[in-house]
Amino acid sequence: MVIDIVCGKEVDKDAINAAVGNVAAGAPETDPTKGTKSFYNGTWYYFCSMACRHAFVATPDELIEREKGDD
Ligand SMILES: [Zn+2]
Repeated sequence: MVIDIVCGKEVDKDAINAAVGNVAAGAPETDPTKGTKSFYNGTWYYFCSMACRHAFVATPDELIEREKGDD
């Protein structure tokens, strides 16, 4: 399991990979029921929903910094 850095929910990375494949950020994709992901700065980030993915794509650096700040 990995954490959706937008909302903090645990998401099933394997299920998402099975559902969406390795699509590039912003590319057309299917409508996954298990979540989605986005490739940014060399890393795949996983999300529970398209809404969280859109929020991440809008302000990725801010969210990544916030996540690092938790240490
Ligand atoms: Zn989420």
